[in-house]
Amino acid sequence: MTQRKLQQIVNKWQAILRLQDWEVEAVAVQAEYTDLIDGNTGLCERRTNHHIARITIAVKQSAEKVEEDVLHELLHVKLAPLWALHLNLRSLLGSSAQELATSCWTDTEEPFINDLVQALLGVHGYGC
Ligand SMILES: [Zn+2]
Repeated sequence: MTQRKLQQIVNKWQAILRLQDWEVEAVAVQAEYTDLIDGNTGLCERRTNHHIARITIAVKQSAEKVEEDVLHELLHVKLAPLWALHLNLRSLLGSSAQELATSCWTDTEEPFINDLVQALLGVHGYGC
């Protein structure tokens, strides 16, 4: 998949998720999942205060999987204010409690996002 096609998919979901007030940079990595950090196929970096995000997607996958990854990472952007709240509250804790808090957050957020990906694709479908 090309960078241009990836950007079209990002634009589609950015509008559906009402994230137009965010500057989202999409980076297509011509690789499979094993080439990205932690064996993931997508990565999201966000600066909530500035509404700037970069999503990096391994695009040597099926078009459907790429779109699922885009939507997954954009949902992390959508939830960024809650993530920022988590980080603020976490900073009040000791280090072991911080690890537990983030582990609990991730264990909750990831399945939640995966369910939303399927729900949203069920409503809006694949493709631009
Ligand atoms: Zn995730």
